[in-house]
Amino acid sequence: MPHQLLIATGNRGKLREFRELFDAHVDSQWELVAPAEVGLKDFTVVEDGETYAENAGRKARSYSNACGLPALADDSGLEVDALGGAPGLYSARYAGEAADDAANRFKLLQALSDIPTGQRAARFRCVIALAFPYTTNVRLGEGLVEGLIAMDERGDLGFGYDPVFALPDGRRMAELDVAEKNRISHRARALADAAWALDAMSRTLDTSS
Ligand code: IMP
Repeated sequence: MPHQLLIATGNRGKLREFRELFDAHVDSQWELVAPAEVGLKDFTVVEDGETYAENAGRKARSYSNACGLPALADDSGLEVDALGGAPGLYSARYAGEAADDAANRFKLLQALSDIPTGQRAARFRCVIALAFPYTTNVRLGEGLVEGLIAMDERGDLGFGYDPVFALPDGRRMAELDVAEKNRISHRARALADAAWALDAMSRTLDTSS
């Protein structure tokens, strides 16, 4: 019987990708649950850690304790070499606390306006954390996807920086449908890296039920 797993995010783009990833890649021992389905729609966790792992771990533990279910959280960001790795951990609020995705992309294109194509290398990084309720132990997985920041925006799929992120084949991440993005994305790779931990969690639940 499948076990419930809370996906600890309020970001609808991420949630959609996780649902599709689990449908496609994990032989479903898991029934995914969104925060809104367990009364945690407005639940927030302060993301002031110094690493992706710290933030993801804190989110997974907090959400898991709040609803009593095992939880999966991710922390992700865009790292641009010409900006010394920025916006990185601050990707979601690059253009300010209340900034939306479009404002963040605009600020990024402005910041790189003098940088030639050959020096616009960038990557998406994702760290996934898995936690059981009322424990301190967190399991982690990490994934990357390499590309470069284009000169303009293209594509209307995905979310966040996808319209400005060019893949090695020239397509923008925002031109890939969710299934295609999930074959190469940092989030998919982080989940594959954490697959062993998900299996171990499922076996633990099997034996305790
Ligand atoms: P957080 O992981 O919720 O703290 O925020 C990650 C931020 O990084 C998002 O708000 C996006 O701006 C950016 N980001 C992470 N993953 C992706 C992606 O797959 N596509 C585009 N932007 C992303």
